[in-house]
Amino acid sequence: MEIFDQPDTVNTQFAELLLPVPIPKLFTYRVPHAFNDHVLIGQRAIVQFGDRKIVTGIILSIHQQAPKDYEAKYILELLDNFPSVNDLQLRLFQWMADYYLCTLGEVMNAALPSGLKLSSESMVQLHPAFNLDESNHAFSEKELILLKRLQHESLAYSDIAKLLGTKHLYTILKSLTGKEAIILFEEVKEKYRPKTEKKIRLTAQYATSDALEKLFNLIASKPKQEDVVLKYLQHVSVIHHPEANKDGLSKKKLLTEEISESSLSTLVKNNVFEEFDIIVPRFDIQDKSDPPLILLSEEQERAQAAIFKSFESHTVALLHGITGSGKTEIYINLIRKALDSNTQVLYLLPEIALTTQIVHRLKKVFGSAMGIYHSKFSDAERVEVWNGVLQGKFNFIVGVRSSIFLPFDNLGLIIVDEEHDSSYKQQDPAPRYNARDVALMMAQMHHAKVLLGSATPSIESYYQTQQGKYGLIELNKRFGDAQLPQVMLADMGRERKQKTVKGEFSGLLLKKIDEALKLKEQVIIFQNRRGYSPMVNCEDCGWVPKCVNCAVSLTYHQFRNALVCHYCGYKESLPQQCPTCTSTRIKTVGYGTEKLEEELSLHFAEAQVQRMDLDTTRSKNGYETIIDQFERGETNILVGTQMVTKGLDFDHVSLVGIFNADRMIHFPDFRSYERAFQLITQVSGRAGRRDKPGLVVIQTSGPDHPLLKTILKHNYKDFFNTELADRQLHDYPPFTRLIEITVKHTDKKICKAASETLADQLKQNLSYIRILGPGEPAISKIRNQFLMNILLKVPRGKFDLANIKKTIVTLSTQLVTEKEFRSVRVMADVDPM
Ligand code: ADP
Ligand code: ZN
Ligand code: ZN
Repeated sequence: MEIFDQPDTVNTQFAELLLPVPIPKLFTYRVPHAFNDHVLIGQRAIVQFGDRKIVTGIILSIHQQAPKDYEAKYILELLDNFPSVNDLQLRLFQWMADYYLCTLGEVMNAALPSGLKLSSESMVQLHPAFNLDESNHAFSEKELILLKRLQHESLAYSDIAKLLGTKHLYTILKSLTGKEAIILFEEVKEKYRPKTEKKIRLTAQYATSDALEKLFNLIASKPKQEDVVLKYLQHVSVIHHPEANKDGLSKKKLLTEEISESSLSTLVKNNVFEEFDIIVPRFDIQDKSDPPLILLSEEQERAQAAIFKSFESHTVALLHGITGSGKTEIYINLIRKALDSNTQVLYLLPEIALTTQIVHRLKKVFGSAMGIYHSKFSDAERVEVWNGVLQGKFNFIVGVRSSIFLPFDNLGLIIVDEEHDSSYKQQDPAPRYNARDVALMMAQMHHAKVLLGSATPSIESYYQTQQGKYGLIELNKRFGDAQLPQVMLADMGRERKQKTVKGEFSGLLLKKIDEALKLKEQVIIFQNRRGYSPMVNCEDCGWVPKCVNCAVSLTYHQFRNALVCHYCGYKESLPQQCPTCTSTRIKTVGYGTEKLEEELSLHFAEAQVQRMDLDTTRSKNGYETIIDQFERGETNILVGTQMVTKGLDFDHVSLVGIFNADRMIHFPDFRSYERAFQLITQVSGRAGRRDKPGLVVIQTSGPDHPLLKTILKHNYKDFFNTELADRQLHDYPPFTRLIEITVKHTDKKICKAASETLADQLKQNLSYIRILGPGEPAISKIRNQFLMNILLKVPRGKFDLANIKKTIVTLSTQLVTEKEFRSVRVMADVDPM
């Protein structure tokens, strides 16, 4: 063990480490004497795990008890001079592990960006902006060896250890990261590719007044080139401030001013100008303009005062404000107040709602004190935000669900916007947490306040207001004089009889689209299925192509001309002939966004139709490009999945068409009414702003359904009361807590037997609660794993939840120690959504 060998003395210290492995225990390592004075709780340390794996762990405690049964390995390196993870976080992580039935290691894995979790699988690449020949830094011999190799390829941590002949790499890597020479990333993830901007500047030889004078003489007979130089000097006053030339001018900016590209290229060729790239941070929106002065309306003022009043007696307040009521402006005021009193603020948004639209609005007010945490960010960017919070650079974070993991130490306010949204729930892998609920726990630990906001609150949250546990603030008017849209039902049964349906479109919806387009207004069409058609079948024998790995039919995608599984990504081509009866009559059944897009283009040939779903937004900026085009009015009709329902604020949308409301309503899940109500209300909210009232057309075969009636009337309270009664009758949340246990195995028989054994034992040990199943879930096989579900319904407030959870963990762990069930996997989902 090289330099660390040392005699045992009384002074030997040990540390309990949390490692990112799914084993429910801590690991003891020995602290080398050299580290005795530096070792701290919450610090990251590199250790060897097993025979060859190197991982990063977090030190949870320091003590002097040597482990009894084995000799502790040494900590290899300490990564920080200060703790990266604070005490409040460690308490939160422990709570999450207990509440969501997973290991602390799994929480840690989800919490830390991989750049903070250096391991033997970590990869190192050159920083994209780094150039060895131009760098002003001095490098050690080992650093140079590494940098030279990295010019040809990225290397794994373990390769570097071999290359440099040492296990103690971190000091070298840290030094190189500090000199912006390298970047760490995890190989499975995308590499860090920075966004760059092309700029131009005068070459050094022309960047003085004298040289410029000579230049003007030289190009006097070439007015176009003269224009270029003059324009450049207008923006960059090289004559008065020669140093300004170094930063240059964005090429785009120069070229927008009727400057010809060819004259500029000539000047570049003649060495007058030079081009260079700079890296622009993502979401770094340059807004030098003063923040707009917003005066709250009377209703907004009243709501804001009511929120403050509520916070005097409650930790949590729910702002139930209809779409377009101006909730964001109220948030902004509250955030400002919290920051003024020197506390941190976290503003949570659902994944898809975190667009440049909202970031722009916030950045104008909060500038560089605001950090953004987004899942499309590269790992390097996430590490930047993490450290920014740690070092107090960002007191305000706007982010998606994973921002609850950031190292806050003094939160004063957490806002959970669109609190009903299911993207706050992490489905897979563990921890299967709901960021809204974790936020409530964080608030308790930080003595902070929580504001939940929604136009369609979840039944659970609204119920808490009715119980007096949360404050309730209602905002029933849209901002300005805007009205809520009128909602109409297109009765598909009747229209079919009258033969007014064309393709998938009702006569009513087609007529309304036509009217809107004639008035130069925009249209949004919502259909919650992507692809061309969700199923294909043989008209003669009924054969349906199914996924080879999952128990689902394949979705036809016309664009790729392929059948695709939406669960595992399996793909095959559409057969010309039925494989069972050789018939060629193979037809598509049902319709997704792709088919609607196609039909719309046929019906409205002059209209620009755009589609927004997972398939068109996969690229990093795909989503934003589509939104920008729509915002600029380049798109007339936007067809999309639930991506079009969230938080977007457009001025010219007068019509929203909704497909397949019936499928949403009748989906087999106890939350289907709630979901349908939320989705339809949210997407309807996109219609009509300011002085223009909007219209919503819902296509349905069951126009008399009571849920549609409450939607027509925009009556949340009615909906809530009906739904709540139903939940009580059938023992569902908020009256019970659900815990869903899924048993997985590649062999159907073993999966069934294991789930039956587990269910029996649970029923014996927890006879006082209702346990349903095991039963096959709607999709009974995914990625070649068969699934069986067991559902526990725990009445709220009556039993000791912690004890029940302990029983679940014990029995599940026991189950997989039985020989025949050794490779069975058991997963628990607490408060499934
Ligand atoms: P919500 O989030 O409640 O659906 P928004 O906050 O998006 O509503 O507000 C709807 C629209 O009204 C936005 O365009 C917003 O800029 C505008 N708005 C809201 N409050 C004000 C105000 N006090 N002054 C000016 N414009 C406002
Ligand atoms: Zn057939
Ligand atoms: Zn599949």
